[in-house]
Amino acid sequence: MDSRSWPCPPCGEIREFVQPPCADGHTDDGGDCPEWACADCGAALLIGNVAATSATVWARVAA
Ligand SMILES: [Zn+2]
Ligand SMILES: [Zn+2]
Repeated sequence: MDSRSWPCPPCGEIREFVQPPCADGHTDDGGDCPEWACADCGAALLIGNVAATSATVWARVAA
């Protein structure tokens, strides 16, 4: 399974995210599902939100 490292808001630090099986039909037409889940706490992240979320968590981690 593919995985990515992103800042996780609930965890407050970098976590590994995995892509769960899509239940919303995003991949029905061969597209990519934008949903990723934190392997540690299970929080769901949408790829479109990653940039904004990352900035928030990076600021918190740096504080
Ligand atoms: Zn999906
Ligand atoms: Zn997490």
